[in-house]
Amino acid sequence: MTARAWPAEFRSHVREFIHTALPPALAGVTGFAERARAYRAALHRAGLAGLGIPAEFGGQGLGEAEERIFAEESAGSVPGEDRVFQVGARLVVPSLIGRGAHDLAREFGPGLLSGEMICCQLFSEPEAGSDLAGVRTRAARTKDGDWLVTGQKVWTSYAQYAGLGLLLARTDAEAPKHHGLSMFLVDMDAPGVEVRPLRQMSGDCEFNEVFFDEVRVPADRLVGRPGEGWPAAVAVLGHERVGVSRGDDSSPRRPIPYERLLELARHGGRDSDPAVRERLLDAFLGQRTAALVSRRIAARTLAGAEPGPETSVGKLLRTANGLHAARLASDVALGAGATWAGDDTLAADAAFWVLDAPGMAMGGGTDEIQRNTIGERVLGLPREHSVERGVPFRDLVRTREGQQ
Ligand SMILES: Cc1cc2nc3c(=O)[nH]c(=O)nc-3n(C[C@H](O)[C@H](O)[C@H](O)COP(=O)(O)OP(=O)(O)OC[C@H]3O[C@@H](n4cnc5c(N)ncnc54)[C@H](O)[C@@H]3O)c2cc1C
Repeated sequence: MTARAWPAEFRSHVREFIHTALPPALAGVTGFAERARAYRAALHRAGLAGLGIPAEFGGQGLGEAEERIFAEESAGSVPGEDRVFQVGARLVVPSLIGRGAHDLAREFGPGLLSGEMICCQLFSEPEAGSDLAGVRTRAARTKDGDWLVTGQKVWTSYAQYAGLGLLLARTDAEAPKHHGLSMFLVDMDAPGVEVRPLRQMSGDCEFNEVFFDEVRVPADRLVGRPGEGWPAAVAVLGHERVGVSRGDDSSPRRPIPYERLLELARHGGRDSDPAVRERLLDAFLGQRTAALVSRRIAARTLAGAEPGPETSVGKLLRTANGLHAARLASDVALGAGATWAGDDTLAADAAFWVLDAPGMAMGGGTDEIQRNTIGERVLGLPREHSVERGVPFRDLVRTREGQQ
């Protein structure tokens, strides 16, 4: 099903996929990346990968209505492992199209949407997180027009599975810091790339440090023109907040769903406690509000607009809902000292969520930075003071190093 279908017909096609085609495709598939790939392959076979992406870039060329129907019907059925594909499918492909990098979108879109290729986002560095324009990883042009990349990235989710990376690098240290950046698609298997996994307190190994030692990147892997990396990164981060704030089940790291919280409260014998019921109601209202806000943002994006500062509102709601749900789950499902019996999988899940939820206040840009964005770009409050505007990046680095 690739052409626009009637909503009822599309809905029954999605139901058929979820209830008939998906279970055998996932049966007996174990391992994080294997389950992620099996799910994406089945999604692609059913003509449901990249619903809102135009067909020429590997998607289905459908719209917001189909995205919404898919989210409604797939709630509870999308394996969490699919989040390894979110950077490629939800961030990179729409951003390449939005930035006019159509050749790259045509080349990589089909693989990123169908699950043949995993892409990671190589933005953050040890000294460039919130201050992303401060990246120091450098890309130097060679005589033949290719680039040589040297530097270090950190917090790179799922880089250990990725074949491709979207990299932000400095190509001109003489320019002010927001103007000397460029964006590239890099081959993660290229000589000189080293990926070192980091373990989190939840037990997961999502993050990695990634080192680049004179890694050659072909000239045609530059996204846009040299020096256009900052607006490209802002657009990618906008798409990331659209994804993060989505309230549906295929959203990566979504809060513990309201239905699951109710199940945990029943399981712990706390569902008739008035204080717990009030907190359950707050969870329901918070998640419903976030879903409506994210639907509105998604409708604008699918209509062709690049995501704007309103996505910061969705991201803040997401963090608040995630933390509220994790605290509630821990109170109703875990015993004193956050312990649980070995065979209690519901409580073990709750424990994972409690440890995992705080990360969302940082991932995709911290809550403080979202508040700054809302203050400056939505409410029109005065911008943060900066002494760096117009100063060549090379001089900023010297000043900081001089102070140490
Ligand atoms: C779950 C998760 C997934 C991630 N995945 C990726 C990924 O795949 N790729 C990638 O490139 N990065 C990724 N990151 C990194 C993430 O983008 C950074 O952690 C984030 O940008 C914050 O940067 P930082 O950690 O350097 O904190 P810092 O920038 O050092 O901030 C420290 C604290 O100071 C506050 N602060 C800083 N500046 C200001 C200011 N101007 N006003 C007010 N407060 C301020 C911050 O809000 C924060 O509380 C991920 C992070 C998480 C948690």
